[in-house]
Amino acid sequence: MTEPRLTKKFICIECPKGCEITVTLDEGTIVEITGNSCEKGEAYVRAEITNPTRVLTSSVLAEGLEFKMIPVKTNKPISKAKLITAMREIKQLRIHDPVHCGEVIQRDFLGLGVNLIATRACKKVE
Ligand code: SF4
Repeated sequence: MTEPRLTKKFICIECPKGCEITVTLDEGTIVEITGNSCEKGEAYVRAEITNPTRVLTSSVLAEGLEFKMIPVKTNKPISKAKLITAMREIKQLRIHDPVHCGEVIQRDFLGLGVNLIATRACKKVE
């Protein structure tokens, strides 16, 4: 079943100006984009409609280190459709060795072509 003509509003997050962009869809196809001040805004809303992505930020449990949790993030955005799977995976992870800020915790996280990196340094408990 195809959707009838509808409009969706977005706030562009590509720069601090925060343009309010309106997208008109007809049976799921973009027919008009208004309100953007530049091409980045158009690219942003097209991606939001076809394959929205986000940088995932979370925390991984640490064992034997100075903090119980180490904040992490993906080094690039991942599909919003993968966020729940990614959070489940992060819940299973444990960090046992000291890390430095920016260190890769998991390379090619979930086979998505992104790395999961630590965003805070953490030492062993003395
Ligand atoms: S449309 Fe362009 S000017 Fe407007 S918020 Fe997005 S990036 Fe900034």
